Amino acid sequence: MINKNGYPTSNQIKSKFPDIEVLIKPKAIIECYTEIPCNPCATSCPFNAITIGEDINMIPEIDFDICTGCGMCVYSCPGLAIMIANIKGDRAYYKIPYELLPVPVIGEIWKGVNRKGEIICDAKIENIMQNKKTDKTVLITVSVPVEFLYDFITVRCPV
Ligand code: SF4
Ligand code: SF4
Repeated sequence: MINKNGYPTSNQIKSKFPDIEVLIKPKAIIECYTEIPCNPCATSCPFNAITIGEDINMIPEIDFDICTGCGMCVYSCPGLAIMIANIKGDRAYYKIPYELLPVPVIGEIWKGVNRKGEIICDAKIENIMQNKKTDKTVLITVSVPVEFLYDFITVRCPV
């Protein structure tokens, strides 16, 4: 339970994902579990796929039918609480926000980490995106074996 130990339960994580077949296309996974006064995810989405409502404290809700997986909400979220996920064959692909150094290089194999900070698998760095829009947040595209779909959350430098 996130309020007690700082990380969500398996059911809480799965509640943020769409049905598996939806992930044939990239979709934003919004892991915002606590009511806080925050809304850049909703205001940054060019397609109005994220709704918070009149009370800024409410937890964001996403319409997966509208989300294009464009990634703008990922680097707009100050809490680094959003990633993009999709499935191709036996790999799960993510676009994750990353604000540490060193920045990975395309083609490198880093370590995949779960929400407890444990290393769970190898993670291939597929792409890196950083520009004026993303500011100091780097968007890393990474792939891991699909069985880690609900476990993977970020990467760790292998050395
Ligand atoms: S990925 Fe793009 S379309 Fe989807 S919710 Fe985020 S900003 Fe909106
Ligand atoms: S911007 Fe991030 S932290 Fe703020 S409400 Fe949206 S998902 Fe939560």
